[in-house]
Amino acid sequence: MGDPTAEITRIMVALDATPAVIESALQASCQLLVSHHPMIFKPQKSVSTATTPGKSIHAAIRGGLAVASMHTNYDIACGGLNDLLSERLGLKACAPLQVTATQELAKLVVFVPQEHLDRVRAALFSHAESLGSYRDCSFSAMGEGTFTPLDGARPFIGAVGTLEKVPEYRLEVLLDRAKLPQALKSLVSAHPYEEPAYDIYPLHNRGTENGLGRIGSLPEATTLADYTRQVAAQLGAPGTRFVGDPATRIQKVALCSGSGTSVMHSAVRAGAHVLVTGDVKYHQAREAEDLGIALIDAGHFHTEIIMAEAVAARLRRILPDSGFDGCQVMVCKVETDPFRYLH
Ligand SMILES: [Zn+2]
Repeated sequence: MGDPTAEITRIMVALDATPAVIESALQASCQLLVSHHPMIFKPQKSVSTATTPGKSIHAAIRGGLAVASMHTNYDIACGGLNDLLSERLGLKACAPLQVTATQELAKLVVFVPQEHLDRVRAALFSHAESLGSYRDCSFSAMGEGTFTPLDGARPFIGAVGTLEKVPEYRLEVLLDRAKLPQALKSLVSAHPYEEPAYDIYPLHNRGTENGLGRIGSLPEATTLADYTRQVAAQLGAPGTRFVGDPATRIQKVALCSGSGTSVMHSAVRAGAHVLVTGDVKYHQAREAEDLGIALIDAGHFHTEIIMAEAVAARLRRILPDSGFDGCQVMVCKVETDPFRYLH
C-alpha cells in the first residue's frame, strides 16, 4: 500500500501492521513499514476507521507511510522465516515439509568463437545456477561451426556468399527457467555474432524446492520436556505448552511458524517426533495424541517475531548493494504478544 514513486529514507520492520505499530512508524518519521502480516486478511467491502485494518490504513495514508507485507512469501522463502526458526531451534539438514514449488531448470548451450569464450561465459555466470556449494559451473568443448552469410548480413567473420568454417566452443550453463529471458539478453550483448546460435534444453533434473514448514534433525536426541524448555528459552516464549509424553525421545523435528497445525499430517509422514508451531487448538491436540506425534505450541507471536530483527539486518546488508545508500532501517519496539500469562 502506498505511492510507488514516494522517496524512502527510513524503514521500520514489524510483525503486525497494527494501529500502534503504524503510529510508532510515523513517530519515527518512517516512509515505509515492512510487516510480516498484511493489514487485510479477508476481502474488505469498506475501509472504515471503525475496524482495526481500517484504522491502520487510514493512519498510514494520512501519515504518508507505505506498507509492504511479505507473509507466506517470507514463510516459504529459502532463508525466510522458517529457515530462521530452524536455525534458532538448533535443526540441521532442513528441508521444506510441504513442497509448494519446485524450481524448473534449463540447459543453455551457445556456440562461441574461442577468443570470446571468457566474455560470454562471464555474462552467463551472472544468471547461472549454482551446483550445491559450487558457483560459476559450466562446460565447454571445442568444435567447428559453419555458416554462409546471406545478402544483407553483416558478418563478424567471413564474407557474404562464402561458406565459413570457424573454430568455436560449445559452452553449456545451467539456468533457472525463470531467468532465461535475462540470460539471453546478456548472451546477445556479450556475443560477437549478429545472430548467436544457441539452444535451450528443458531439464528433468529437480531444482531447489520451496515450501511450507521445515523438517530437520537435532544434533543429539533429547526428551520432549527438555526440548520444550529449549524452544521456550530460545524464543523467549513464557506460555509454551506441549502435547505428548514429556519423556518421549525427540530428534527429528518439524516446524511451521505461526499457525502451523495444517502441516501436522505432513510432519507425521516425514517421521517427525515433534511439530513446533503456534495456535494449536484443543481438537488438534487430541488428533496429535491419536497420530502419535508430539506438539510444542510456542505461540504465533513468539515463532514469528524473530523475523523483525532478521529482516532489518538483511535489508541493512542488501540495500546499499541495490543502490539505496543512506536508507535507515529500524525494528519496531512497541510489539508484544497479545497473550499474557499468570505466573
Ligand atoms: Zn503469522
